[in-house]
Amino acid sequence: METFTSDPQDTGRPLIQQASPVTDEQLQDAIRTVLKAIGEEPSREGLVDTPDRIVRMWRELFRGYDPTQKPKITTFENDAHNTEMVFDTGDFYSMCEHHCMPFFGQYYFAYIPQDDGRILGISKIARVVGYCSARLQLQERLAHDIIEMLSDALDNQVQGFAIVLKGMHTCKTMRGVKNKGNMCVSYFTGVFRTNPSLREEFYHLINMQ
Ligand SMILES: [Zn+2]
Repeated sequence: METFTSDPQDTGRPLIQQASPVTDEQLQDAIRTVLKAIGEEPSREGLVDTPDRIVRMWRELFRGYDPTQKPKITTFENDAHNTEMVFDTGDFYSMCEHHCMPFFGQYYFAYIPQDDGRILGISKIARVVGYCSARLQLQERLAHDIIEMLSDALDNQVQGFAIVLKGMHTCKTMRGVKNKGNMCVSYFTGVFRTNPSLREEFYHLINMQ
């Protein structure tokens, strides 16, 4: 069905990915329709460039649909035969698929390499988190997507992965005062799934942050 030939460098390219059948102009029209629907006048000075700004912003926020923007994940031979837990933490920013509203927070990641396997360039983890976050997401699926991409990079040659995402959902915090919109999800594979003391060690590292 999709017959896309547009060059990604071409300014007339579709919004997010080459497979998108929607042009920037069609998308801007749609945004003007939304502005009218909420009671705005899209042609007033403050809004006249807003559809164009949103399209350009979405290109960045939703780059996770574009396989050409997938981060290259560097891996190294585990020359030192390290089988200690490797831990990383940082921020994530994503958009909920139910309301197209931001949710964001902290990620806490750990893995245990295989003695004869490969190890991850730790700086790449944040890039993978950023790429997987740049789609309409569920917090649970985001956790899975991150681990899947990192596991693929290691050819699944790993003892186990652990991830916790602590997020705040603006679709909840901006509506009503009863629900603070905080959500925490965790996902474990391999030895983290089978060995409770490793999970405890991981949670201990999280609490030290
Ligand atoms: Zn939501």
